[in-house]
Amino acid sequence: MNDYHVHTRLCKHGEGDVYQYVESAIAKGVKELGFAEHIPIPALNDPYGRMDFADWNVYWRDVEDAQRHYPEIKILLGLEADYLPPYMEYIESFIAQYPFDFVIGSVHFIGDWDFSNPQYKERYESFGVDRTFCEYYQLVREAAMTGLYDIIGHLDIPKRYGHKAGLDMSGEIDDTLKVIKRCGLALDVNTSGLRRQVQELYPAQTILSRACAFDIPVILGSDAHNPTEVAFAFPETYRLLEKIGYSETCVYKNRIRSSCPLNT
Ligand SMILES: [Zn+2]
Ligand SMILES: [Zn+2]
Repeated sequence: MNDYHVHTRLCKHGEGDVYQYVESAIAKGVKELGFAEHIPIPALNDPYGRMDFADWNVYWRDVEDAQRHYPEIKILLGLEADYLPPYMEYIESFIAQYPFDFVIGSVHFIGDWDFSNPQYKERYESFGVDRTFCEYYQLVREAAMTGLYDIIGHLDIPKRYGHKAGLDMSGEIDDTLKVIKRCGLALDVNTSGLRRQVQELYPAQTILSRACAFDIPVILGSDAHNPTEVAFAFPETYRLLEKIGYSETCVYKNRIRSSCPLNT
């Protein structure tokens, strides 16, 4: 099992430090653990959404220290970076500055609305659910085309609170998957949706089947915000991927992707 999407207490809406995640991963038999902390964006007013810039060195130091102290597990330095059009210059230079093994590109915002934050979920009604999904997929396509990211995070996350598009989204989804394929990105198969109101993987099984048809690589992530959530629901997720037709997942090192058989 490889888990390429875990956070720490440094993001301010999670618990546990790097070492506690590593210990939990080892106990669960995880072979590769990818830390993907939320990128600090000092200019953005988002007090509980991401790491403070002042904590960046703590994160980096702890991940590298854990790499030295736990040779029994492969530990990767990653980042979950938003796609946020007004801040792309900053985000690009941040990503370029540090030796990441992988970078997840995630869309959490439409304009200034963090639709993934429970605090603002009422806004789905006034914004419109169909419009939320359409604009979301458009932003994901733009994110993929920037060339800044390796993996698209939790595709279809606007369903988090149980919202469903009234319109048929299959065209939007196929267009988005084609862009992801063309741009050479992988998909984060994110099990956190199973812990949320929606009780589904991100992306949903139907989208994963389409992704498999397009031959898009996948990588598992628990999106753990607590050490106990590392590798959450992974055995059944590996089985599902196999059923869908996947025979491998992928892994990263120094932002270079390689494949990894499903049953490791
Ligand atoms: Zn988070
Ligand atoms: Zn995210």
